[in-house]
Amino acid sequence: MTASYEGVGKLGFGAMRLPLTDPDDVTAIDIEQVKAMVDEFIARGGTYVDTAFVYHNGCSEPALRQALVERYPREAFTLATKCLAWACASKEEAQACLPTSLERLGVDYIDFYLLHNVGGARTAKFDEYDMWNYVADAKERGLVRHIGFSIHDGADVLDELLTAHPNMDFVQLQVNYLDWDDPVTESARCMEVAAKHGVPVIVMEPVRGGRLANLPERGAAVLAEADPEASQASWAYRFCLDLPGVLTVLAGASSLEQMQDNMRTFQTHQPLNEQERAAIDGAIAALRSVDLIPCTNCGYCVKDCPEGVKIPVALNLLNLERQTEDRAFAKGLYSWQAAEGPASKCVQCATCEAMCPQSIPIIDRLAEAVEHFEG
Ligand code: SF4
Ligand code: SF4
Repeated sequence: MTASYEGVGKLGFGAMRLPLTDPDDVTAIDIEQVKAMVDEFIARGGTYVDTAFVYHNGCSEPALRQALVERYPREAFTLATKCLAWACASKEEAQACLPTSLERLGVDYIDFYLLHNVGGARTAKFDEYDMWNYVADAKERGLVRHIGFSIHDGADVLDELLTAHPNMDFVQLQVNYLDWDDPVTESARCMEVAAKHGVPVIVMEPVRGGRLANLPERGAAVLAEADPEASQASWAYRFCLDLPGVLTVLAGASSLEQMQDNMRTFQTHQPLNEQERAAIDGAIAALRSVDLIPCTNCGYCVKDCPEGVKIPVALNLLNLERQTEDRAFAKGLYSWQAAEGPASKCVQCATCEAMCPQSIPIIDRLAEAVEHFEG
């Protein structure tokens, strides 16, 4: 791999949930506040700014043009954006994403271009639309500096994809302290796979969609006791910042105040010491002290399911709901992670229960998933 990563700041600015002037309209971006956030970010040494074709219904990229591109020299920042080919109706539509992103952002090249949310049945769309060759060609033509993909699937799928596409310069993974040894997300194993293939990692979801910045009391108390001054988000970012192989940790910010907190963490960052690691372990234990479904994601149950139900996904999200006490958050993830095999497709044949080494009453748990996530 010959890609150069010089100048990429360790804490990235994720422009997925920018501040709004109208909370009911995701396109009503508060551009003056975004400018102030960008100024704070750049002034404190940040460079990596991450957006996507679809963020804010297509308005995140133009907002960054106004707040960043038109106000700073091109070499002052590193831009990442993404294509969701699986959401496109045709190859032409998928391959039109890059020129549209370039135009919206007002730049003539993208530093990091991602095929976004590869995995599951979505991978077939990237294949069908020839997106792997398309991005390689875009890199050849100088429209893109580095090509990679983001993925939420586990380590085996990541390994297969990096083996099939050895020209990828980087990969974007879901990594955080709660998912580190999670049997479905497998953050730790995914990091090992990336290292094996020699690709650096952009960390997404370091605060697990905001859940690790707004912990249930039993987890919050552990961290507050260890350091009453530190924000919950800062613990989550610090966990990721020193992991080997990490290029950038994406930090979403929806206000200037959040950006200031993020940048404080970045500027004052010290590696976690032994006591601090113990505090995070204590918070994880507290979050998991609720009754969790003992699914190990071994996958035996899904092999012969006649309906293709995404059993481990449903069980994992029930566990996430129990740990974070946030059903709406888990439901949002379920809406796309289980879309190919929702729990409601279960016909109660019990084949899966006979296969489960953990003796989990899967049919009952799937009924719970239907009630919690499909209502
Ligand atoms: S009980 Fe439901 S989930 Fe289990 S194998 Fe049968 S259809 Fe699939
Ligand atoms: S067989 Fe049991 S433990 Fe294995 S993935 Fe299925 S539900 Fe989880």
